Amino acid sequence: MAIIITDECINCGACEPECPNTAIYEGADDWRYADGTSLKGKVVLPSGKEVDAEETQEPISDEVYYIAPDKCTECMGFHEEPQCAAVCPVDCCVPDEDIVETEDELLGKQRFMHPDG
Ligand code: SF4
Ligand code: SF4
Repeated sequence: MAIIITDECINCGACEPECPNTAIYEGADDWRYADGTSLKGKVVLPSGKEVDAEETQEPISDEVYYIAPDKCTECMGFHEEPQCAAVCPVDCCVPDEDIVETEDELLGKQRFMHPDG
């Protein structure tokens, strides 16, 4: 499953630079599939959804830092544990029970975003 940031977030910004998938954004900032990944132009995500990687996407939160779930791999393929949760001083990066994915699915997402390793 993806990791979600709860409204306990104190906007310290510690998690954002730690994300290997550039899945974390400051509240009210736009996000893009292309940010920090190899994705360019029109792509079909492992989920089957077709998107333009360079198109700006609406912020998921206007108040606190947020995670774009399509880009979160729980850090699989890079680290042993979710780096955002490891650095968060208030423990507000938690598993999103609504977005459950298998290890294979998470690794598939990671390879899709970073085919060159
Ligand atoms: S778990 Fe890892 S990939 Fe997901 S948002 Fe946190 S740092 Fe990024
Ligand atoms: S580390 Fe935690 S408190 Fe700081 S911005 Fe990230 S989620 Fe919010």
